[in-house]
Amino acid sequence: MKKHSILLCLVALFLLLSPRDSISDSSDPPKRILRFDHYYDYDGLRKALIKLNSTYPATTRLKSIGKSYEGRDIWMLTIRNPKTGPDKEKPAFYVDGNTHGNEIQGAEICLYLAHFLLTRYDDLDWVKKLVDEQVFYIAPTVNPDGREAFMKEPNTPHSSRSNRRPYDNDNDGDEDEDGYDDLDGDGQILQMRKKDPNGRWKVGADPRIMERCKADELGQYTMLGWEGLDNDGDGRFNEDPVGGVDLNRNFPSNWRPRHQQWGAGDYPLSEPETRATVEFLEEHRNVAAIQSFHNAGNMILRPPGSEDDRNVPRGDLRMYDALGRRGERMLPGYRYLQTFKDLYAVRGAFLDWGYMRYGVYSFSNEIWSMAQDYNKNGRVDNMERLRWNDEMLKGKGFVKWTEYDHPQLGKIELGGWTKMTPRIPPTWQLEEVCYRNARFVLYHASTMPRVQIKSLTSKAVPGDNDLFRVTAIVENEGFMATATKIAQQIQVSQSDRANISGPSAKAVAVALSRDVTKEAMLQNERRPWRFDFGHIPGQSRIKVVWLVKGKGTVNVRIRSEKGGTARRSIKLTP
Ligand SMILES: [Zn+2]
Repeated sequence: MKKHSILLCLVALFLLLSPRDSISDSSDPPKRILRFDHYYDYDGLRKALIKLNSTYPATTRLKSIGKSYEGRDIWMLTIRNPKTGPDKEKPAFYVDGNTHGNEIQGAEICLYLAHFLLTRYDDLDWVKKLVDEQVFYIAPTVNPDGREAFMKEPNTPHSSRSNRRPYDNDNDGDEDEDGYDDLDGDGQILQMRKKDPNGRWKVGADPRIMERCKADELGQYTMLGWEGLDNDGDGRFNEDPVGGVDLNRNFPSNWRPRHQQWGAGDYPLSEPETRATVEFLEEHRNVAAIQSFHNAGNMILRPPGSEDDRNVPRGDLRMYDALGRRGERMLPGYRYLQTFKDLYAVRGAFLDWGYMRYGVYSFSNEIWSMAQDYNKNGRVDNMERLRWNDEMLKGKGFVKWTEYDHPQLGKIELGGWTKMTPRIPPTWQLEEVCYRNARFVLYHASTMPRVQIKSLTSKAVPGDNDLFRVTAIVENEGFMATATKIAQQIQVSQSDRANISGPSAKAVAVALSRDVTKEAMLQNERRPWRFDFGHIPGQSRIKVVWLVKGKGTVNVRIRSEKGGTARRSIKLTP
């Protein structure tokens, strides 16, 4: 009896002290190889990718697809299951981040996506299916120099956007000779203001906010731009900082020279970073969808960025809208926009090249928005940004105006947002931002075309003992067609191809029916064993019928550039 009660006490104690069962959902990673509570610098990113690669050597491949201007590797992590077939025989998803050096969180989203696919492969069926049937090409930063400069050097929230090739931004014959200067040595490039009764600016309701004066209002300040010196003595400040090619204006789609489009570069693909991306995609024609991550503003952007929808076929628009609306639900507060009509004109953008030239559905998400619309008037003003900064960041995102003795401008004041504040989520928000955007990618990936041979049958033709009708029912299981309408229109997508072969058999005629309930009509093909039949719409079947002369086994292969390759064999039995 006594023994029994001691035991009961022990059990009770154990239950009391043991951790409670956690409540888990599909967003709780069972394993954590990497942490998403900070931003990785270039070397940290490289080590994180190596860690994923060495933890999952069978399902990942880590490769440099090229070098940046300063010689850093542009890393590409491939995720797929090699046991289910060669990479290029599967539909692939391409995702990158950080095209603009200062827009860093795209890299963490890419890393998170890779981490999610790898750590959830064993416990989530839908993740396993994606990794088994598809390929993911993930390039966390396609502008490693810009990223490293942003993280390691003093910057404005908007600088270190371009790559690092020296550029003569002010056309004075010198390159990069007048960049920002961190005058007070605090690691930030702030703004400069100077007291001036003739200035056109005044202090707002909060002394940190600067407001433009009305036409009939006396001013208090002149705004002098970003923190810096007139290094080249031309009377201007910071007009030629490092670099000057905006990689997202350097792609060969509606490219415009520099006097028409800032940051264009000397010619399309003049930069090693953009060239690496395009060469990779051209070498991997199995890529059927593209996602690129930028910041900021909570937007899901689709092309074109250089014109309205006049050249976008209606069928593609329907798919875009379906994906975009789904994205708006998965990413609350994000707006799905057509770049040119709803936002701005951008020439030579990656997004336009991806869809208008390469021919696949391409999105560019502008990640995160700094503040809350506290008064729900549909826009976020400076007071609301400051309120969020004060309540959620303890005021640390804004450096209060302080006096500074400027060698060229005299007594001025320095102040403003720190580089990490207006465009980049604080680290406590990072993981949710990563999760939601990764889920949007995975949804987009799940709609890619996937070609399967649903059935393969053979029937002897009566009266001829070595002639057979071989029928293949081929299905595209994805929502997307095996080629977008634009790819068909501009003829960048190879036709899907049906092959039949056998050691002792040869096709003598072929027939196609796009309605599988109907009899296929024989087509006059010169090589009936190698039949290019066009493309298969999403979620539909076609029927291919061959007349085959011979005996033994025949092998059927359906090869779709974007929808993967399917194989099946059958024995010809009289
Ligand atoms: Zn950007």
